[in-house]
Amino acid sequence: MYDKLLAPYTLKNVELKNRLVVTAMVTNYCKEDGFLTDRWMRYHEEKAKGGWGMIITEDYCFRPEGKGYNRIPGLFLDEQIPLNKVFTDKIHSYGSRIICQIYHPGRQSNQYVNGGHQPVAPSAIPCPWLKQIPRAITVEEIHEYVSQFGDAALRAKKAGFDGVEIHLAHGYLLFEMLSPHVNKRTDEYGGCFKNRFRMIREVFEDVKKKVGEDFIVGTRLSYQDGYKGGRGLYDSMELAMNLETAGADYLNVTFGSYGDHNSYDRDVQKHGFVTHACSEIKKVVSIPVIDTNRITTGGVAEAILQAGEADLIGMERTSLADPHYPNKLKKGQEEQIRHCINCNIGCYGSLLSGGTCSCLVNPEVGREIEMDNFKPESKRVLIAGGGPGGMEAAYQAVRAGHKVTLYEASDFLGGQLVSAAFPPMKGEVALFTSWLIRQMKDLKVDFRLNTPLTRAIVEEEKPDAVIVATGGSAIVPNIPGIDLPHVHKAEDVLLGKVVTGEDVVVCGGGEVGVETATAIAFRCNGKVSVVEMLPSVFPSLDFRKLMDEYEVDRYTSTKVKEIKEDCVIVEKNGEECAIPAKTVVLAFGYKPNNTLAEELKDLCDVKVIGGSIKTSNAFAATTDALNAVLDI
Ligand code: SF4
Repeated sequence: MYDKLLAPYTLKNVELKNRLVVTAMVTNYCKEDGFLTDRWMRYHEEKAKGGWGMIITEDYCFRPEGKGYNRIPGLFLDEQIPLNKVFTDKIHSYGSRIICQIYHPGRQSNQYVNGGHQPVAPSAIPCPWLKQIPRAITVEEIHEYVSQFGDAALRAKKAGFDGVEIHLAHGYLLFEMLSPHVNKRTDEYGGCFKNRFRMIREVFEDVKKKVGEDFIVGTRLSYQDGYKGGRGLYDSMELAMNLETAGADYLNVTFGSYGDHNSYDRDVQKHGFVTHACSEIKKVVSIPVIDTNRITTGGVAEAILQAGEADLIGMERTSLADPHYPNKLKKGQEEQIRHCINCNIGCYGSLLSGGTCSCLVNPEVGREIEMDNFKPESKRVLIAGGGPGGMEAAYQAVRAGHKVTLYEASDFLGGQLVSAAFPPMKGEVALFTSWLIRQMKDLKVDFRLNTPLTRAIVEEEKPDAVIVATGGSAIVPNIPGIDLPHVHKAEDVLLGKVVTGEDVVVCGGGEVGVETATAIAFRCNGKVSVVEMLPSVFPSLDFRKLMDEYEVDRYTSTKVKEIKEDCVIVEKNGEECAIPAKTVVLAFGYKPNNTLAEELKDLCDVKVIGGSIKTSNAFAATTDALNAVLDI
């Protein structure tokens, strides 16, 4: 099945044990001075243990202030080499190859993460994402940066890396140099393609001069820049040919930039959505091409290789969700693979809010050392609730050696994660639910459906600890008409328990309201409206686009006053109006179910997690679940 994917591959002069590559993912685990931490090294080691053929690190900076996140690694000092050597030796001990990605963020930075410096860019045009006005880099600085790129690459070689990857994708400095939308220079670094490519060519020249011909120098490029009227595939094919001529040993193909406003399109939900570009680029170069972005299954990866559309397969978020993915494929344990569900909450979401990289489906990411050191005594643990938090807690607790019983009040496992898979574009959420349920069975967790945990059970069982993972209940406000028969909860609508009539009003424009409205609009022909008290509905660009496409009306800064048999009375700016409604859907949010914790607190150690504490999401539930088990 995986003849090519799991077969060895020779990249330049280096043997890879398979064609599975971890592509770069910012973790923010290092020190602010660019030195590596044990946490960062151990995080990568887990992937090497998991059998990846090649690992590409996150972007190393070559100047102390040249960074877009405050805790990324650096190779701007010789003193940083020894720890990197310890790191590369460790990765090599598992038979994986390790590549050091090097970058400068250009205008995709700000003074809060780069030590108070004004970002630099080809021209003084702010990044549409971060908004800070950069200053135009001078020619003297370009020469200095080029040389520092080469110095960092030489340090990487001395530190034992198998190669470097020069980052010219995703909106960073070298990407900006290429773009006529960002590069308005009139000197030798602006204007025609040859000039806009000049700094890149000089970087390759300097790097190759310093590291020699026997060292891999790859590059990451976006096959389009994502700007309206910007660089497209054919421009990128021209770029690819020039990169090969400049000395690139492989091309790692990705897409867009972080500030392009266009990336978060439904196309990026599709598996292998960059493969068509790899395939075209591969036709015009003779160096290997890495395909990445939403390749999540071994079958799709093998198909891409068999079709000759790429030479290597890159996976980043998949390697977070399951660092042991290659070994599981090799052993035929596909059903044990914990798949990325494309939520972007634990990885990008955490980083964008100033945190560190994590993962909703794998809360152990970045906590490998804690897991190594966790050697609890076996205890008796009861868990209330069989949603994602409760099941993750059971999974962690059983593996830690505790004797566990899980109590679930309903007749199914999964909680709100089950209905969360029903809106458009959310189907893969079910992969995690089914994986958790499989773990309950494989680990022989004693779980009892239709059995709420009560004080009486706890008094009888006398556990050492209870984990309360009862989640939240849908808020049903005291609005006239809320008890009418055509009024239903969002979860029931999503699960298909309710047939909605034409003219549906969804009360509440948070995440659940927006996704439910879109699901209803997708399923039936009637008019769907969302009413939200806040000035805007849940800010998901994907779902806003879908709501536009399905013509879902949005009433913002609008309050639901009354529900009648054929309409919903709403108020905006003191004026009332009626929105026709044959079905009304309640999506006012959730309130924590935490009364059990109060009832039990005098009996044993009680830990309350996820939505039982406050309204949250499955990421909080799984993270809290791990925290609770580590604290028993
Ligand atoms: Fe995938 Fe979500 Fe984990 Fe990110 S947080 S790696 S998107 S499952």
